Amino acid sequence: MQTFDPSILLDRVREIVNTDIGPRASVLDERYEWPEHNLRALQAAGLGGLVVPQELGGLGHGMFMLARTCELIGTSCASTALCFGMHCVATAVIAAKATPRQADELLAPICAGKHITTLALSEPGTGAHFYFPRVSITPQEGGYRINGTKSFVTNGSHADSYVVSTAPSDPDAPPDQFSCVVVPASAEGLEWGPEWRGLGMRGNSSRTAKLQDVSIPSHCLLGEEGDQIWYVFRVVGPYFLIAMAGTYLGIAVAALQEAVGHMQARQYAHSGTGLADIPVLQHRLGCMWAVVERTRRLIYHAASEADEGGETALLALASAKAEVADCAVSVVNEAMTLCGGVSYRAGGLLERLMRDARAAHVMSPTTDILRTWVGRGLLGQPLLGD
Ligand SMILES: Cc1cc2nc3c(=O)[nH]c(=O)nc-3n(C[C@H](O)[C@H](O)[C@H](O)COP(=O)(O)OP(=O)(O)OC[C@H]3O[C@@H](n4cnc5c(N)ncnc54)[C@H](O)[C@@H]3O)c2cc1C
Repeated sequence: MQTFDPSILLDRVREIVNTDIGPRASVLDERYEWPEHNLRALQAAGLGGLVVPQELGGLGHGMFMLARTCELIGTSCASTALCFGMHCVATAVIAAKATPRQADELLAPICAGKHITTLALSEPGTGAHFYFPRVSITPQEGGYRINGTKSFVTNGSHADSYVVSTAPSDPDAPPDQFSCVVVPASAEGLEWGPEWRGLGMRGNSSRTAKLQDVSIPSHCLLGEEGDQIWYVFRVVGPYFLIAMAGTYLGIAVAALQEAVGHMQARQYAHSGTGLADIPVLQHRLGCMWAVVERTRRLIYHAASEADEGGETALLALASAKAEVADCAVSVVNEAMTLCGGVSYRAGGLLERLMRDARAAHVMSPTTDILRTWVGRGLLGQPLLGD
């Protein structure tokens, strides 16, 4: 049943987090399992089309709600939040300039909870510089032929379609004039590398895709040939930054909750007092809360500003993802100190959070690259100057 009301939607997400996502989080992590059940539950609750405009059949929400949703899911299972977030980012890319045919064939099933899509931008050769793709696109009768390799494709081998970036088809065009196409999962010539075995984010199925003479019809091109730098700054970047900011904020929130719960419960046999009575630990907890809260406020503010089309939104979004990476890693680390040796045991919640949090710095745009973009923006220089 479709609802557009933000508070009803967030209540639905909370319910799914409690009944479906939370109970499965540690098993998914242990088994490196793609969170199929969780994603189906989110789709069944109508969230597949969260960021698809209402006139195209979706819920019509923007970055603020994407941040809130990913945060709630990420508090319970960061892998599920990452998979759901990537689906939403790819959905926003498809919706940005969708043709009527793309709306019918892709967005309608996405909104009906019957289609998962995802982003395949990164490549082994260009790494963190995902905006310079080398995968080739060659025009042919009725469409295009695609060749090359994509790396770290979240939802890889499980999604129904892949938003794939390609180099410009004209070899003389500037490298940032690249294109994006939608490749259906069933495309002949699309092959998957080994199963994902990450330090953390173990459920996200971040696999390598080989595209060998993959033929796609011309209606699979998104927007115009060569206008993808527009997408990077208008859609891919903003939606991706905010989905990831929400996800990693969720990790920090979970670590803070764990620290509070542990400090309240831990009592000493020799004194009858507990961790909650020790001033230096109270002080450290206060500092952790402030780190989480200032990051949350930056993320929410950046997302709202971006939804309103604010001038400085991009710098705020870039800083939000950079800040949340520092926040998640440091708050989980601090929580482990407060919770002591018990939390250092293998298989505990904080161990999983620490492994998951560590992905934040290395996921493109990486923390260093984001900080550089912000600096360049402040200096009046083009962001992609390297
Ligand atoms: C869990 C996970 C999920 C992912 N999911 C997806 C996905 O769904 N879709 C997708 O397309 N990609 C995805 N990625 C890929 C990711 O976004 C990066 O592209 C990838 O991690 C880059 O790795 P690399 O080793 O090639 O980095 P490299 O490019 O080799 O970079 C190594 C380090 O050098 C730094 N560096 C490089 N250039 C600069 C510079 N100019 N200034 C400052 N520092 C610099 C980087 O910040 C980084 O810290 C995922 C990655 C992970 C870990």
